[in-house]
Amino acid sequence: MTTISPSESKSRLLRGPWTPEDSSLLYGISDWSSGYFRVSDKGTLQVTPDKDPARAVDVHELIEGLRERGVTTPVLLRFPGILADRMHALHGAFSKAISDHDYAGAYSCVYPIKVNQQKQVVESVRDIGSTLGFGLEAGSKPELLAVLGMTAGFNDMPIVCNGFKDDEFIETVVLATKLGRNIIPVVEKFSELELLVKHAERYGVRPKIGVRVKISARGAGRWEGSAGVRSKFGLFISEVIEALEYLKARGMEDCLRMLHFHIGSQVCDIRRLKHAITELAYIYTELRRLGAGMDTIDIGGGLAVDYDGSKSAFDSSMNYSIEEYAADVIYRIKTVCDDAGAPHPTIISESGRAMVAYMSVLVFDVLGVSRFDASPMTKAEVQRMLESEEETPQPVLDLLAARDELTDRNLVPSFHDAMQARDELMSLFSLGYVSLPLRAAGERLFWETGAQILDRARKLKEMPEDLSALPEILSDIYFCNLSIFQSLPDSWAIDQVFPIMPIHRLDEQPTRLGILADITCDSDGKIDNFASRREAKKTLELHSLRKGEPYYLAATMVGAYQEILGDLHNLLGDTNAAHITIGDDGEVVIDELIRGDSVADTLSYMQVDHKDLRRTMRADAEKAVRRGVLTVPESRSLLSFYEAGLDGYTYLEEGD
Ligand code: PLP
Repeated sequence: MTTISPSESKSRLLRGPWTPEDSSLLYGISDWSSGYFRVSDKGTLQVTPDKDPARAVDVHELIEGLRERGVTTPVLLRFPGILADRMHALHGAFSKAISDHDYAGAYSCVYPIKVNQQKQVVESVRDIGSTLGFGLEAGSKPELLAVLGMTAGFNDMPIVCNGFKDDEFIETVVLATKLGRNIIPVVEKFSELELLVKHAERYGVRPKIGVRVKISARGAGRWEGSAGVRSKFGLFISEVIEALEYLKARGMEDCLRMLHFHIGSQVCDIRRLKHAITELAYIYTELRRLGAGMDTIDIGGGLAVDYDGSKSAFDSSMNYSIEEYAADVIYRIKTVCDDAGAPHPTIISESGRAMVAYMSVLVFDVLGVSRFDASPMTKAEVQRMLESEEETPQPVLDLLAARDELTDRNLVPSFHDAMQARDELMSLFSLGYVSLPLRAAGERLFWETGAQILDRARKLKEMPEDLSALPEILSDIYFCNLSIFQSLPDSWAIDQVFPIMPIHRLDEQPTRLGILADITCDSDGKIDNFASRREAKKTLELHSLRKGEPYYLAATMVGAYQEILGDLHNLLGDTNAAHITIGDDGEVVIDELIRGDSVADTLSYMQVDHKDLRRTMRADAEKAVRRGVLTVPESRSLLSFYEAGLDGYTYLEEGD
């Protein structure tokens, strides 16, 4: 594991003092950053949207600058430059694969807005996408209405409509097609086809129709249920053939243009994708043979990002590159089509995560640290403890023995003994047999012994398996000014790993190991799983806090799904957000500042009217003055705190 053991420190000492390069290695930046992050010579985290170190945004300077403008952490930084780079990378990878394989069809990516629906993000995708032949995907009626409104004037832009559709939804699609929009509704169930035909005939429109098919290849990753014959979405093959017959009977078989599937998000193993795409390509050629006007294959989303930098088939990683993905998709579809003598279709992917994950960084401050007391108990203290009560409970004596008899040869048994003694001590305490001071003394002996065992174990060539939990048991808890449920929901819901690291002091060796806890009152509001190329890392290397000096951490790669899945747990709302670009002269520009929710905003989402609250509090304070419980100045202070609180940020601000 990537902890800083004394032996590592020793070898670093030989190399001289800690350097920013050491931090870069420690936090594995080159493993997960894809070139968008680096550590500066000053020891700060930098973002390089176009991967050029000469054009970098210093995150620490930026946060200080925002603070001067009254914008406090937590703050979400969005870098449209990274989005543009990702879109060009995707386009470039497919262009290369198309030319390498003499593929005759084109490629387009339609961005599923559900991955990040923020207006500025969707507008950036639209503007950059219009130059690359990319489009947008809508998965519900509200999303379609948003997409139609935002793409006015972009008539050629492909719009794919997924999700279940009702009569009104389908009528809107047909009318928008009549308006000149390039929309492909994807039939998810047979009744949608009937509605499509009804409205198409009524308005004299020949729509491009897509059909989502249930393939036999299983889905992949955490969203395995998205594909396979038991998936919620799509038609069985028999229904697809029935759909074609239905259209043929109405002279509309040429309208059946696109075949679609989605095998799940974050597909970490490329083999899953290869099987599914081959199956889809065969279905495409067969449907053409049966008379459908098929000319497009939509391979859905699933293109993963490597959050932990391990380049493996782990859930938070991927065992392939964008280039490999593009080459596999093109090669597989081409081979099947060539064998069947079918023309090469246009290929669409609905890559959301791969486009937007890197573009957002959440910066938050640490409010405080909780750490155990492992200071050695002196002889005099032990003596006092033993004499303090008539009888010293056995577990306390056992803890003392585990500590005093510790040698390099008995680390594991001593650890087991100490753990057992601590558990027994807690049980006896719960039954009323141990006093509070003796429990405190026992706990202190346990921490002291644990810290000593860890210290000695780290000097060994290899950490014994049984002791691997020790760093976590002994780690500090860093309390952070954020809500994990609001800003990093996947970390809580599906144990998604995000690279997290300090944005400054990277020229200084971190000396503590910690887990992160948020400010919600929920015990689940913590992060104890960190990105690591080698193995799951339960603690993060952090610096000791300095009095009066803020300590900032950044959670990177949070652009996909996090912003829109967040809830209002504990009424902690949207964070402040800033859009950062780099001008031609290399100057960092804050394009847009978006204030996070105020307390009054989040209350209004719950139908709680802040005006009612103000009124009730004023009346209550007035009554208290009349009763003589509060003085007039006290009542005024209380009300002004209350009102400022309602108008203020939901997160803790300096001076709170
Ligand atoms: N298309 C469909 C139908 C989806 O359900 C999703 C998300 O799960 C996506 C595309 C986006 O997937 P990803 O973000 O993995 O690219």
